[in-house]
Amino acid sequence: MNQMIDTKTAVIQELTPTTRELAMTAPGMPTSDGAGVKLTRIIGTPHINMLDPFLLLDCFESDDAKDYIGGFPTHPHRGFETVTYMLNGRMRHKDSKGNEGVIEPGGVQWMSAAKGILHSEMPEQQAGLLKGFQLWVNLPRSAKMGEPAYQEFAADKVAEERRADGTYIRVIAGETGQGTVGPVVNNHTHPTYMDITVPAGVTFEQPLEPSHNAFIYVIEGALAVGEQAKVVGEKVLGVFGEGGQITVTAQVETRFMLAAGKPLNEPVARGGPFVMNTREEINQAFDDFRRGQF
Ligand code: FE
Repeated sequence: MNQMIDTKTAVIQELTPTTRELAMTAPGMPTSDGAGVKLTRIIGTPHINMLDPFLLLDCFESDDAKDYIGGFPTHPHRGFETVTYMLNGRMRHKDSKGNEGVIEPGGVQWMSAAKGILHSEMPEQQAGLLKGFQLWVNLPRSAKMGEPAYQEFAADKVAEERRADGTYIRVIAGETGQGTVGPVVNNHTHPTYMDITVPAGVTFEQPLEPSHNAFIYVIEGALAVGEQAKVVGEKVLGVFGEGGQITVTAQVETRFMLAAGKPLNEPVARGGPFVMNTREEINQAFDDFRRGQF
C-alpha cells in the first residue's frame, strides 16, 4: 500500500516541473558596433557565448547623441532573426526589399533575415535618450535559407496585462499565466519575450515550457529568483536552470525583460552578421554578399 502511494507521488512530481532556480548570472560588457554605437553586450560575451536559441542580446542606452548618432549603416544578415525593442527614442530601419519604418518606444520589430537581407538601423533623433534592446534568435537549419519576413508591432499592438498586485506586463511573444498572448508568431523556437514591471515585494510567476532555455535581464531594480532567492541585480543577466515555471520577487520596484525559447540543439557557425550551421555556409554567405545577392 505504502509503495503504491510512493509511486503515485513520484509520478505526480515528474509531471509537475519544479520552480526554476538561478543557474548563473553575467554582467553586460561595454562594446561598440555599427558606426561606433556604444552598447552593452549581454549575451554573446566571454561570460555567455549564447543561450540556445538566443545568439546575442545587446542593450543600447545613452542620452549623449555621439554614442549613437552613427547608427548601424547598411549591413547584411543571414540565418537568424533580429528583434529590436525600443524603450526610449526612435529607430528608423530601411532594407534592400523596400521596407522602411520607424520603431517607437514600446514598439517591436521582429525581423527574420533568413536567406538574406541588407538593412540599416539609424536613430531617428539628434538628441535625447535612446534606449532599447536587440535580441538575436536563431533559426533552425530548415528555415535559415527561407524568405526574409517581418513582424512589426507599434507600442499599442504589443499586448498588455495589468494585474491587481500592480504588476505590468508587455507581452511581445508568448503567453502569460493569465492568458495574455503576444502578437509575434514564431513556430521555430516558440519564444517568450516580455517587458515586466513588478512593484516592490511582489512575486511574479510565469509558466514556461520545461524544455525551453530562459533568462531575465534586469533593467532597473533587483529580483530574488526561486526558492533559493538568489538575487539578480540591476543590469545583470540571470539564466535559469531546469524546471517549469519561474518565480521572481522584486526587491524594489523592478523592470526586467524575460525571454525563453526552445533550444535548436544544432551546430552554430558564426561569421559576423551571419549565423549558419557550418563554416562552409558562412563562407558561402560572404561570397553571396560580395556578389550582391542580398
Ligand atoms: Fe542589423
